[in-house]
Amino acid sequence: MVAGFRARVRRCRWSGELTRPGHADGAPGAGGRCVPTQAEQGVRATGACLCGGVRFEVRGALRAVVNCHCGQCRRTHGHFAAYTKCRRAALRLLSRRTLRWYRSSASARRGFCSRCGASLFWDAVGDEGIAVAAGCLDAPTGLDTVRHIHVASAGDYYTISDDLEQLAGSMAKADRP
Ligand SMILES: [Zn+2]
Ligand SMILES: [Zn+2]
Repeated sequence: MVAGFRARVRRCRWSGELTRPGHADGAPGAGGRCVPTQAEQGVRATGACLCGGVRFEVRGALRAVVNCHCGQCRRTHGHFAAYTKCRRAALRLLSRRTLRWYRSSASARRGFCSRCGASLFWDAVGDEGIAVAAGCLDAPTGLDTVRHIHVASAGDYYTISDDLEQLAGSMAKADRP
């Protein structure tokens, strides 16, 4: 047991910090810098658009996935939209070259890639959270889908056939992260 513990936890030769498995010590090839694991950096998830022009990471909790069937989501995603959500401060854009914002209503804007057309973010005015399209996240996400919302606006060309909760409209504000 002691040997196993020692095998997993060791000190970085460069920084002297206790490390997690996968940590790469500072080396000439890395410019003398360590290559910390995502766990060491506190990164919960990473994601990108189809072409890679928009890349992001989330440092902090992600809400379970909610499928939105509203007409706006269906038009911009091509079908209903699967969104997780994080605090805006937890979302860090690693690349934003092709990110554009479309003011889709008086109360929200949608972030999309101007090159590949991916729909990535739904950003509501006055909400400290931002919705992130679950399909843009890198696997494994560790997330589950928990409900459908705006089912009163669902398209007439499909049937919701799972047992998840369905709401005719939107979620209560208290349900937001
Ligand atoms: Zn793109
Ligand atoms: Zn929607």
